[in-house]
Amino acid sequence: MAMDDYAGRVVLVTGASTGLGRAIAVGAATRGAKAVIVNYASSAAEAEITAEEVRKAGAEAVVVQGDVGEDADCRKIAAAANAFGRIDALFNNAGVTKFAPKHDDLDAVNADDFLRLYKINVVGAFQMVRAARTLLEAGEGTSAVVNTSSIAGVVGIGSSVPYAASKGALTTMTLSLARALAPKIRVNAVCPGFIDTPWFDDPTSPASRDRLREATIKATPLRAASTAEDIADATLFLASPHSRHVTGETLLVDAGTHLGFASLSMR
Ligand code: NAP
Repeated sequence: MAMDDYAGRVVLVTGASTGLGRAIAVGAATRGAKAVIVNYASSAAEAEITAEEVRKAGAEAVVVQGDVGEDADCRKIAAAANAFGRIDALFNNAGVTKFAPKHDDLDAVNADDFLRLYKINVVGAFQMVRAARTLLEAGEGTSAVVNTSSIAGVVGIGSSVPYAASKGALTTMTLSLARALAPKIRVNAVCPGFIDTPWFDDPTSPASRDRLREATIKATPLRAASTAEDIADATLFLASPHSRHVTGETLLVDAGTHLGFASLSMR
């Protein structure tokens, strides 16, 4: 990918305080973005670190607090781009989960878990698109939305049943919005497998992230545990000119997790 394929662009990343969101924000700046709007919900200090890295990479950074589950906050977040007159790329990356990995324990989750995850992971992305639509349509060419979905929503694995269901809904919503917002706005989704981010930090079990990383390397066909930068590269592709004829697509970036190890070979 050319390292100037975001030249002059205005980019908004939700959930950019840590992990994948930070890697997308810094990656866009490194590729020449003019400005990056850095959203966070509660990690103000971490968001400032992202903004500092964005500035070091040569782009203007604007930090804006806001909970994407709240429509008024989404409008505030989108308005942070008003000074630039347009948004070229919106990355709906903010997400939450409930860890209940034993999916057969149906009592480990409840209706409130479903509703909380749906509110942020699905409704949040919808509200952000709605709030940013005018700015996404304000540029001369096409703009792009990339939703951070998950392999969990494709094959029903992951941290819990409500999480997988919410990401499945986000992937389907990507199709609806891609159809609805064409030709001016492209809408795509990226579906990562494991990403080595603070998502898995557990103060009660500091080694659990290390264990999960090692287990992932053993279990994936590519024998790899993705970094945030590995996934950011694929995510940035979906809002770059290199994917200009791609919309309504779901890109699995999971080191082959969805393939499992089942072979159809008779040998
Ligand atoms: P992370 O480092 O924990 O980042 C999560 C981000 O989401 C943080 O910036 C957090 O901000 C933000 N966020 C949470 N709730 C929010 C809200 N209501 N409004 C705005 N921002 C909010 O984890 P990550 O791995 O980078 O996760 C990023 C995305 O990747 C998520 O959508 C997740 O579902 C997806 N994903 C992760 C994995 C994985 O293995 N890690 C795999 C597949 C997909 P604050 O800290 O300020 O609250």
